[in-house]
Amino acid sequence: MSPPAWTEEVLAFARAVYLHVSADGRILDAIGNTRARLGLSREALIGRRLATLDDPGIRLGASLAERLALGEPRPQQPRTFETDACRVYPLSDGRFAIRLRADRPADGDVTRRLLDRLPMMVAYVDPEGRFRLNNQAYLDFVGLERDALYGRPVASVLDEASYAKVAPRFRRALAGEEVTYEDRLTLADGRTRFFKVHYIPDYLDGEVAGFYAIIQDISEYGAMIQLLRDVHTGVNRTDVGPREIIGRLLEDALTYLSLDIGLVSRIEGERYTVWWAASRDAEIAPGTTFALGDTYCRLMLDEADVFHTVRAGEDPRVNGHPCYRQFGLESYIGIPLRLEGRVWGTLNFSSPRPRPRAFSEIEEELLRLIASAVERVIAHEVEIERMRDERDRMADRAMTDPLTGLPNRAGLDRHFQRLLGARAEGAPPFSLAVLDVDHFKAINDTHGHDVGDRVLVWLGERLAQCLRDGDLVARTGGEEFVIVMPEARAQQAREVVERVRAHVRQGRVPVADDQAIAVTVSAGLGEHRPGEAFGELFRRADTALYAAKRAGRDRTHLAGPAA
Ligand code: GH3
Ligand code: MG
Ligand code: MG
Repeated sequence: MSPPAWTEEVLAFARAVYLHVSADGRILDAIGNTRARLGLSREALIGRRLATLDDPGIRLGASLAERLALGEPRPQQPRTFETDACRVYPLSDGRFAIRLRADRPADGDVTRRLLDRLPMMVAYVDPEGRFRLNNQAYLDFVGLERDALYGRPVASVLDEASYAKVAPRFRRALAGEEVTYEDRLTLADGRTRFFKVHYIPDYLDGEVAGFYAIIQDISEYGAMIQLLRDVHTGVNRTDVGPREIIGRLLEDALTYLSLDIGLVSRIEGERYTVWWAASRDAEIAPGTTFALGDTYCRLMLDEADVFHTVRAGEDPRVNGHPCYRQFGLESYIGIPLRLEGRVWGTLNFSSPRPRPRAFSEIEEELLRLIASAVERVIAHEVEIERMRDERDRMADRAMTDPLTGLPNRAGLDRHFQRLLGARAEGAPPFSLAVLDVDHFKAINDTHGHDVGDRVLVWLGERLAQCLRDGDLVARTGGEEFVIVMPEARAQQAREVVERVRAHVRQGRVPVADDQAIAVTVSAGLGEHRPGEAFGELFRRADTALYAAKRAGRDRTHLAGPAA
């Protein structure tokens, strides 16, 4: 049989059939997909009486024949009219043209065959949001039989959130609007894909009877766009934290590459440490370390560029290497991360499964791009870390006495705040002693200021020698020191201070060649009272020190009660 004329093919798409009918109800000609619509070929229709086409599916036949008053004298004013199955056009010569309307989208041969061969998914959705037609690509994608899907609501193939996104677009299509969009949708079975979608409303005699949905899976393309967006974010945005940016890059790269594990690792000597990880199933905790020699990255670093394999078991570069024995990953793609010209670590993606296709040049190129974005983020982090260290160093310096290296007054304050915090949480009382060198001015005057300084340094070391862990010595003024003793009541603290003072008295500070000088200190001591401020405790201890001085020096006095 010759191929149908184009008009027929068009009519087949339009799902319409036209019959040319004589005044007495005999079919003179037929065009359109008559087979699909009436189950008869054009040849079989010609010559047939209209009344014999009693097909309930098309509700033609007797009623229409009646209506046409076939064989009767012609009505005076032939008029176009319609039944719920067709539209009748009386022609000037007494004949009729009848356009048969489809009551649902025909799945006629041509249409059906064409639709089933299309590489994109096609569905027909009725005003209730139910499938009335799905082509083969659609069925394959969803993994259901044609009959199983027919009549099912579209909502049943999408997850709830995705359906909520598409439902308003359905409504627009059903209102007669042609709708086009690209979106990331999650199916009821959990798969997430990028789709490019067209909804084309289907008009039947002036009303929207449903719409065609033409759907393309553009996941790969969409995943690439997403990845490029992440790269852009990584390079240009400062308001998104590094953890989030790298997390997104790893996740989206896994989607794009169809792999399962994504890692950013730090390499220090022979140690390989996971810094950031994204994984489809097994959790890989940041901080996990491996011997570099056991990793696929070792192989990649030897190449100093992108390295990949999709069937490691069959790849002679990999299958004899310890990494394959240790991890058994079939697919791997990795690249070095460099910072200031040196290898800082690696970026790599892998899977225990072989990959159906080799990594393409585009994928290699994209990996380089991701690596440079990660390098940017890391460089930024390293810079921030450096600044943080510098700030900490400066803060430490501000808290330290440069002569003795002991905490100064500010350092003591900070320590005291910590102790107060511990006290508020129920820690036992602590004690504080203020110590002052006796007649220090005389040492300066006799031996010079430098010797005075040396005495102070010596003293700082000497004091610390007989204290326990957790005690603190600070230099709070010229020749004034403070000792803080956590968890020591006044009596215990007094014993400590006496021991310290004895230790000082027994020592000798070497000054000139054969000269050494003896030093004594006086002390004032107080036990912290609940709720007492630092200044108040310090003042009490200082008053006790003053009393010790007045009482003849080289002694310890206990502070009185708070004022
Ligand atoms: P007292 O027994 O009453 O404490 O007598 P003193 O001489 O120790 O007390 P005074 O406060 O009169 O003198 C303290 C001296 O310490 C005065 C000051 O020049 C000296 N001094 C303060 N800071 C330093 C320093 O950093 N190095 C040196 N070498 N001397 C200092
Ligand atoms: Mg003094
Ligand atoms: Mg003094």
